[in-house]
Amino acid sequence: MNADDLPKLRDELEAHGLWANKGLGQHFLLDLNISRRIARVAGDLAGRAVIEVGPGPGGLTRALLEAGAVVTAIEKDARFLPLLEPLIAWSEGRLRIVHGDALQADEAALLNGSRAAIISNLPYNVGTPLLVKWLKADAWRGDMTLMFQKEVAERIVAKPGSDAYGRLAVLAQAQCACRLEFVVPSRAFTPPPKIASAIVRLTDLAMPYADLDALERVTAAAFGQRRKMLRSALRALTPNAEALLLKAGLPPTARAEEIDQTGFRALADAWRANAA
Ligand code: SAM
Repeated sequence: MNADDLPKLRDELEAHGLWANKGLGQHFLLDLNISRRIARVAGDLAGRAVIEVGPGPGGLTRALLEAGAVVTAIEKDARFLPLLEPLIAWSEGRLRIVHGDALQADEAALLNGSRAAIISNLPYNVGTPLLVKWLKADAWRGDMTLMFQKEVAERIVAKPGSDAYGRLAVLAQAQCACRLEFVVPSRAFTPPPKIASAIVRLTDLAMPYADLDALERVTAAAFGQRRKMLRSALRALTPNAEALLLKAGLPPTARAEEIDQTGFRALADAWRANAA
């Protein structure tokens, strides 16, 4: 099966009278070579269940199906459904299209107990909340290969001491090994967004941190005032910030951007013990 045999995506958009709705973060990848490269980053997809959010005209969907994946595609914009429909027959039934908002989707129910990778060129306006939702997901979620705005991608993979290091890095790296795979220039999209995009691959850690909600609370306070020392910044969380830091084994004069994954895990543990 070869996606080159399908009608060109640009012709399909024209034939269906479709244009990009910026409110839904629509920037389409019409170059199948880039979509194929994204699919390759995700590893061997033959027979694997995949969730794709926002198939739009279906460029990435074509590449995923060509690689042998069994795809559940969730699309909010009903205008694209007739254009995607022929891919069901082309893939011999390996595509299911769900019309809805991915933020509200119950993926475990959609997958009926099976585990799925997530591979998506995400809508920019909801990329971060979707990632946080999936980081908190239970056993249904497998590896993730996701396209974000380049700046967001850099924040996900950032290390302590860098400007990009913050809540998103701590939360993502508490669950996953995170790697920025490659940058996609804005000219590759129709219409081109203002900034470049990048693909991030997130693979589950052997020892993820169990209580992401606790980690969210401590990172919100710590990075809420990232230039301040933690003994001041953490007052948003507790009046006994110094005692909390002592319990976590962290210096009260440190700043959030200096604290690594181990430090934040210790802080979240200490806060949970206090809150209990
Ligand atoms: N995958 C296509 C591609 O690579 O050309 C389109 C990517 S475009 C950046 C994002 C897609 O997500 C659009 O099709 C848009 O309609 C859809 N979308 C936006 N918000 C959504 C949501 N909350 N749930 C599901 N799909 C959404």
